[in-house]
Amino acid sequence: MARIVLKFGGTSVGDTDRIKNVARKVKGEVDRGNEVAVVVSAMSGATNQLVKWVNDIAPLHDAREYDVVVATGEQVTIGLLALALQQLDVNSRSYTSWQIPIKTDAAFGKARIQDIDTGAMVRRMQEGEVPIVPGFQGVAPDGRITTLGRGGSDTSAVALAAALKADRCDIYTDVDGVYTTDPRIVEKAQKIDRVTYEEMLEMASQGSKVLQTRSVELAMNHHVRVQVLSSFDEALGSDLPGTLVVDEEEIMAQGLEKSVVSGIAFAKDEAKITVTHVPDRPGVAAAIFGPLAEANINVDMIVQNVSIDGSSTDITFTVPRADLARAVERLEKAKTELKFAEAKADTNVAKISVIGVGMRSHAGVALKMFETLAAKGINIQVISTSEIKVSVLVSAEYTELAVRALHAAYELDAA
Ligand code: ADP
Ligand code: ASP
Ligand code: MG
Repeated sequence: MARIVLKFGGTSVGDTDRIKNVARKVKGEVDRGNEVAVVVSAMSGATNQLVKWVNDIAPLHDAREYDVVVATGEQVTIGLLALALQQLDVNSRSYTSWQIPIKTDAAFGKARIQDIDTGAMVRRMQEGEVPIVPGFQGVAPDGRITTLGRGGSDTSAVALAAALKADRCDIYTDVDGVYTTDPRIVEKAQKIDRVTYEEMLEMASQGSKVLQTRSVELAMNHHVRVQVLSSFDEALGSDLPGTLVVDEEEIMAQGLEKSVVSGIAFAKDEAKITVTHVPDRPGVAAAIFGPLAEANINVDMIVQNVSIDGSSTDITFTVPRADLARAVERLEKAKTELKFAEAKADTNVAKISVIGVGMRSHAGVALKMFETLAAKGINIQVISTSEIKVSVLVSAEYTELAVRALHAAYELDAA
């Protein structure tokens, strides 16, 4: 017997037939004698619709009311799934986030889970009840509803698995695992059997939205065994057909040969800002990035050009596209003090990243990336690296060409 948290994403609960299908899977795990808790997303498209309604009424809105509206999608699916399970004679009921409660901080719209009180839930699970929990939502210290940021149901599931000390957290979605890159873009992408937390974290944060980044962070910190698998396959998670996200040691212990590069991610949600003719003196970088940090804007890639005449230079960096207007506004305000010529914004960019723990012990990974892109005539605008990742910023129209070329160059293409 195992204790498992099952999470079903938007497509998996996209209509009532699919909810009935999910109920059969849950029953399958219960019939095997497992203790099961379920986390569900809203029906696919539902959250987008709710966000649109909010923006139609108030583009610059009160985040607390945004959360009241967008959290409702999950309230529909918890109730429907509990009903579908009752139809199959499974003892099940739904809980909203404030009934459990799933306590978060007060960062409405992008709240972080602080604590989940699972005492009562564990007792009921031991009595054979299957609790159905809404993903994406929590409750703030003042009792108001919060949401965890788009894609947040993954995080709800992993946090619940950690709190329940579950043996496994199965993330059911519309692909049968984590692939070497998005299988919708590259037909030759291959399913990965086991991926390390670190690689998955980089892949998620660099754009592979199959798991929300925060969910991987939580899984890594709490050693939650996460499995990604398809709700449209016959097999149950207990038959282990998906991708397991695990510690690097576990992969090493099995003597499996790791490829140098495990995956390629891409993201089109950043924008580039070039600040031109900045005086080349100490303290200037701090003066540029200070106001952005104050405005809670994350800066990702940065490049500072060598000053040609010794007196001024250009600084280029990227920010989330959603924060671009605010970033430029902040820079313009600082212009009199900073004395730069112009802050130029460019949204026509994409970030492509190659990721793999094998990079630590292999030279030439970045070089291969640059040569491959050069051979396709793709110009690199900004570069950034970490121990297990190389990212480049390119013009957005080259995204697919670049991802496919790199996928082939690192020998990730399926035969
Ligand atoms: P859910 O609604 O179940 O949470 P998502 O749409 O959030 O599903 O995530 C699944 C999608 O992630 C897939 O349909 C796929 O297009 C995309 N994806 C991006 N990168 C990858 C990858 N490396 N492996 C698998 N899927 C990926
Ligand atoms: N329903 C939310 C969203 O669409 C959360 C999730 O699906 O993970 O972002
Ligand atoms: Mg998702």
